[in-house]
Amino acid sequence: MNYCELKDCDIANGIGVRVTLFVSGCRNRCEGCFQPETWNFNYGQEFTEETARQIFKMLEPSYIRGLTILGGEPFEPENQKVLVPFLEEFKKRFPKKDLWVFSGYRYEDEITVEGVHPHCEYTDRFLDLIDILVEGRFVLKLKDLTLKYRGSSNQRIIDMTKTREGGEIVLWDESGSSD
Ligand code: SF4
Repeated sequence: MNYCELKDCDIANGIGVRVTLFVSGCRNRCEGCFQPETWNFNYGQEFTEETARQIFKMLEPSYIRGLTILGGEPFEPENQKVLVPFLEEFKKRFPKKDLWVFSGYRYEDEITVEGVHPHCEYTDRFLDLIDILVEGRFVLKLKDLTLKYRGSSNQRIIDMTKTREGGEIVLWDESGSSD
């Protein structure tokens, strides 16, 4: 897996101050994508053990609320294969910090459906690790710059903890969050 950007103090992609990793590779090809260079799986640099160590170091300060993974597309199977063991280690080391993941794929009719791309052998473990999933392709005609954490109004912010508990999709309640 390659990645194209790593931020150690990001306040734009989730609640609080966060470490943010942008992975390379995306097959969604949304019209109007703001970073089409990240569609290429070879864009950027290789994610190595050293990269993981660097991220864990960045996560240590108490003011860092959590980790965010964006793309590109984190749910492309090639990326899931590398991300899942890394994120399992993240949860072990930082059980109180949260994980936000952004995906162009839809939760209930793509990500979670066996036999449908991008679901693969790593997906269930991946989903179990996520606290907040921001999902759906960017749709140019639904572009709305006033939305928090989303580019177009079709995209949803799913509270994965409550979704796992209740067995059906629960959208994130922004009013109950603390910045
Ligand atoms: S999912 Fe994201 S990175 Fe991929 S094409 Fe759509 S907007 Fe671009």
